[in-house]
Amino acid sequence: MRIGALAAQRGWVMATSGNFSAVISTAPLRVVVTPSGADKGALSPEALLEVDEHGAVIGPPATPSDEVPLHLGIVRRQGAGAVLHTHSRAATLLSRRHAAAHGLWLEDLEMLKALKGVRSHQHREWVPILDNLQDRPTLARALDQVLVEHPGAHAVLLRGHGLYAWGADLREALRHLEALEFMLDVLAQEA
Ligand SMILES: [Zn+2]
Repeated sequence: MRIGALAAQRGWVMATSGNFSAVISTAPLRVVVTPSGADKGALSPEALLEVDEHGAVIGPPATPSDEVPLHLGIVRRQGAGAVLHTHSRAATLLSRRHAAAHGLWLEDLEMLKALKGVRSHQHREWVPILDNLQDRPTLARALDQVLVEHPGAHAVLLRGHGLYAWGADLREALRHLEALEFMLDVLAQEA
């Protein structure tokens, strides 16, 4: 709830966009996700849904975000405990500007040290960019392939769509999201 309010306040989840998830059990896999079409700035605990490893709703009866396959893919491939997805202006703009390169570099930024395992601003972080697809299962397979190719990635961008960030738990995922949105914002304003 706090994450939704924070993301809304910063303009990262406008017009009910964006979605969040958190793993509540690994065996069997159970993940709490935000419902489709909800205002992320006004989420109530009752609105959250629990899904299984296939994205099937366990309860309560409601429609989860159609991007759940992407969340589950990141949980599986990266061992993430939480996945946060935003539609910020900077992520949208940069994902279009750098689409031809299929990614962008974040470098020479002190804020890089907010990313897990990064100890110096001299770290170079590659953020892959994928083409956006409304066929979410196909998009999830493309995302999985990118994560196989870039196992050290902390985030990915979807072209003209937004940012996916994750972490071992919600706290780490939020730290990553805030740092990445900050760095993308800097980059967007520089060019
Ligand atoms: Zn989205």
